[in-house]
Amino acid sequence: MTTSRSIPNALTIAGSDPSGGAGIQADLKAFSALGAYGTSVITALTAQNTRGVTGVHPVPAEFIAAQLETLFDDVAIDAVKIGMVASREVAEVIREALERHRPRWIVLDPVMVAKSGDILVDDAGIRAVRDILVPLADLVTPNLPEAAVLLDTTTPDSPEAMEALLPALAALGADHVLLKGGHLHAERCPDLLISAGQAHWLDGPRIATHNLHGTGCSLSSAIAACLARHDDLPAAVDQAKRWLNAALEASARLEVGQGHGPVHH
Ligand code: PLP
Repeated sequence: MTTSRSIPNALTIAGSDPSGGAGIQADLKAFSALGAYGTSVITALTAQNTRGVTGVHPVPAEFIAAQLETLFDDVAIDAVKIGMVASREVAEVIREALERHRPRWIVLDPVMVAKSGDILVDDAGIRAVRDILVPLADLVTPNLPEAAVLLDTTTPDSPEAMEALLPALAALGADHVLLKGGHLHAERCPDLLISAGQAHWLDGPRIATHNLHGTGCSLSSAIAACLARHDDLPAAVDQAKRWLNAALEASARLEVGQGHGPVHH
């Protein structure tokens, strides 16, 4: 079923990044770029620039619940992207709201560390996301280190090692998994889309840039926006990947900070 709204409504449930490259700020820009109206529920404030995270201030779970309830009470949401979720309590209130309001699409980016290497979600938070939110998701989008943490295994370092994770990733309970191959030491950036126990390789170029801050956030939000518009998962992933690659190409034009610069979109 495609929405009758000509511009669908998308929601990001994620943390704030004041440097604008990742988190809520990236998500809203990606929604806009891919033709969805963006709404947001903030799970945590971070004090952050392109060099690192200096502080995290979590929003209390009951206030996240209040934000979700107030929004869903008024706005029909077609697609949700979930990003930084740092505790079991927060994962529970998100599950409760999503089970009650049932948006058509749920995309989960299992955020764990910032590009600077700073930890955003601890082990208990990661286990909560895995147990409570992954089974609810239509699509989960881990990169290779995130997949390794979710599965309690070593980070895959080859396409064969990525394929070997297929049964364990499928068993996590999401309908589809996009295992992103950007961390491979390879000339290309192949991603593996796992649907109904079957794996499909999606080839992509490796774009030479240091401006990678926010790529995971941007891709998952772009996919959510495309899903809200067309209800076609392989097409949404393909369109979002092509858009992100163009954004990465354009990021060389940005001069934002001295560390891991943002993707341009
Ligand atoms: N969410 C927040 C609030 C962040 O600050 C970050 C990184 O700094 C991320 C998510 C993950 O960002 P990326 O898309 O670079 O993996």
